[in-house]
Amino acid sequence: MVGVDGLQDAVDLVLAVFAAGLEAARDVHEQSLPSIASGRDRLEASVPEERGELGRSIERSAAHVVAFRSLHPCDDTRAVPLLRPERITIVEVAPRDGLQAEDRVLSTDAKLELLERLADAGHTAIEATSFVSPKAVPQLADAEDLMKRLKPRAGVRYTALVPNETGLDRAMSCGVREIAVFASASESYSRKNLNRSRDEALAGYGPVIKKAKDAGLRVRGYLSMVIADPWDGPTDPNVVSAAAKQLMDFGCDELSLGDTIGVGTPGEVTAVLAALRRGDVAIAKVAFHFHDTYGQALANVLAAMAEGITTFDASVGGIGGSPFAKMAGGNLATEDLVWMCRGIKIETGVDLDKLVATSHWLGDQLGHELPSHVSRALGEPPR
Ligand code: MG
Repeated sequence: MVGVDGLQDAVDLVLAVFAAGLEAARDVHEQSLPSIASGRDRLEASVPEERGELGRSIERSAAHVVAFRSLHPCDDTRAVPLLRPERITIVEVAPRDGLQAEDRVLSTDAKLELLERLADAGHTAIEATSFVSPKAVPQLADAEDLMKRLKPRAGVRYTALVPNETGLDRAMSCGVREIAVFASASESYSRKNLNRSRDEALAGYGPVIKKAKDAGLRVRGYLSMVIADPWDGPTDPNVVSAAAKQLMDFGCDELSLGDTIGVGTPGEVTAVLAALRRGDVAIAKVAFHFHDTYGQALANVLAAMAEGITTFDASVGGIGGSPFAKMAGGNLATEDLVWMCRGIKIETGVDLDKLVATSHWLGDQLGHELPSHVSRALGEPPR
């Protein structure tokens, strides 16, 4: 039998052993800290070497074991319960909407190569540049030179953005045959981006569009913030519809509705389209311009397709983030859109391999990895 003293001895022994164990564990922990620290130093030191000069990580540029490029298109999409068109038109906006958001200014030669590559990939509608003030957008200050040097290609439309009649005159003097004007469906963005109220800005485009149409130009309208505005909150779909009707009545051949901050979901997209129908806006002339800020861009494309929309803006590499959405996520990447369309057998006319090659080439030109999911997943194609 163990007495009280014996029990106390046993407890003391257990506690002593436990304390020694703790001490040993602390020693091991302290001894291991320098090696962990030096290991971390080695890791950090090695990262720049392994990433290469463009900051690309090894994982992202590694090739897949399986050739995923051959995965698409599906042989049988009858099981996909989606209302969708047989074909869509992609308006490629990287040369204007994309490049104007980049820190690095590309040379005119590099921009011409980008335009050439995009046309070679099969694009038929490309937004080439902008005739806004070079002070406001220095990245596109070479608009005149670019448009004069750009060789016309059969079957390819090149659009230039114009803010007003002065911009229109500059564009026409360079032989531009298609312009785009831009207004906002929300009040605050119009005042900050255009220095005018929404109604003033919209009304101001009447004479510009008329002059362009009288000269035989095709006119594309942009309406920004159709889902929400960072200062005003959600945009009333009926307000979007009224602004869209006004731009259409001025003579726009096409109207691109922009979820400029990328907050929309298929629910809001469907609500906007319902309002357009109530407002007697010609849906056949409506395009959508989605941003992928909240990862909703492709879901929104599907929702719009189900409502009869067949024209979508997209930007190779996904360049062109909104200055009002600080987190990653710019324009819907063209290759992401083409990848989905291949999977559900919607014709785009755009060659995915050429697009991915162009995306990686553009990343080299801009000095950083571009945000497109598909180009990062597929890696750089062999040259
Ligand atoms: Mg955009």
